[in-house]
Amino acid sequence: MIIAIDGPAGAGKGTIAKLLAEKLNYAYLDTGLIYRAVASKWMHQQSVAAADIAAALTPEDMDAEGLRTPAVAEAASKIASIPRVREALLVFQRHFAQHPPSGKKGAVLDGRDIGTVICPDAPHKFFLTATPEIRAERRFKELQATGDPTPFATVLAAVKERDDRDSNRATAPLKPAADAIIIDTSTKSIEAVLAEVLENL
Ligand code: C5P
Repeated sequence: MIIAIDGPAGAGKGTIAKLLAEKLNYAYLDTGLIYRAVASKWMHQQSVAAADIAAALTPEDMDAEGLRTPAVAEAASKIASIPRVREALLVFQRHFAQHPPSGKKGAVLDGRDIGTVICPDAPHKFFLTATPEIRAERRFKELQATGDPTPFATVLAAVKERDDRDSNRATAPLKPAADAIIIDTSTKSIEAVLAEVLENL
């Protein structure tokens, strides 16, 4: 059983995917973290092609510090537009979905292209979205909680820039699969969104 949850940054994918996986006792894969791990390594060694870093990525790389910073998010969205990077990461993601670790009976994957490219045959696909202002507000609060002083206007501009890059790239752009259920989380609580997802399984 595979559940695909796609959407732009700040739509609530990660929160919902994690809660869903806990509730169903499925494995959970945050695929954005994979792109962030590649980006973070690449930021430290720009002489190495991002695709080569992607091909040599290990699970430990996902535990690196600082993967959640805005700078890494921006770099991730840049390297994510390189087809060879995406190809290198596709096998790992698909394998995780089809053979969830620890003998779990299913997997929940969140990202941008899970329903369209990684697991096009997933029986359950959701696309979570929300207005850019609300998504930026959520990010802004998260950053503030970690003591990051980035102003709201900068967070909003970064959200819009990343949306634009993720949606307009040639390979695996951010878009709902034709058979995805679209949920606008702008005015909904986490509990309400989770209930809506569960109702549709
Ligand atoms: O979801 P998160 O914000 O961690 O993703 C970071 C970046 O990684 C995204 O902006 C996107 O460019 C890229 N990404 C992707 N495909 C995925 C997951 C993330 O292109 N499945």
